[in-house]
Amino acid sequence: MRLVLIGPPGVGKGTQAVILGKRLGIPHISTGDLFRDHVTRRTPLGREAGHYLDTGELVPDHITVGMVHERLAEPDALRGFMLDGFPRTVPQARDLTGVLERTGARLDAVVEFTAPEEILVDRLLKRGRPDDTEDVIRHRQQVYRHETAPLLDHYAGILLTVEATGPVDDIAARALKELERIE
Ligand code: AMP
Repeated sequence: MRLVLIGPPGVGKGTQAVILGKRLGIPHISTGDLFRDHVTRRTPLGREAGHYLDTGELVPDHITVGMVHERLAEPDALRGFMLDGFPRTVPQARDLTGVLERTGARLDAVVEFTAPEEILVDRLLKRGRPDDTEDVIRHRQQVYRHETAPLLDHYAGILLTVEATGPVDDIAARALKELERIE
């Protein structure tokens, strides 16, 4: 199964991606995690991307897309994957369609997680990642609204929406139930 998870910062996509990836037996690929790993290892890519992560800006496509292509070419991702944090813009979505088409593949579904904004900001302030200062949090919400939310229309035909409030396991159960509809 080839899935994309979409949702505003703080909605719990990463947590859900870990649970759902295990349940569905597909690798969880988080571009945020890949970038943070590069930053920690001080690779050339990490040095280029670090500033964008610190400020909550999107890393430019020429860096992001190349990193995703490499990851998707790894053997574990050939039969399925759960993308978390990519695509984040319509051009990235077009790029993903193109990459998949080259191997005759396509996305099965895009899962959107929703929650009221007050809950999101509150969760992020409690999470305490280095890029979770209030200014950066607010900026990431704005970037989501402007750059990423248009993907919901782009993927309207394969979009599944899951309410991401309440206990983590309940949210995962709701997502799995939605996903049953495409199997
Ligand atoms: P996340 O862990 O998904 O919240 O991502 C953390 C940061 O990584 C974002 O604020 C961006 O700076 C960067 N990032 C992650 N995914 C992407 C992407 N698809 N395109 C551009 N930047 C990204």
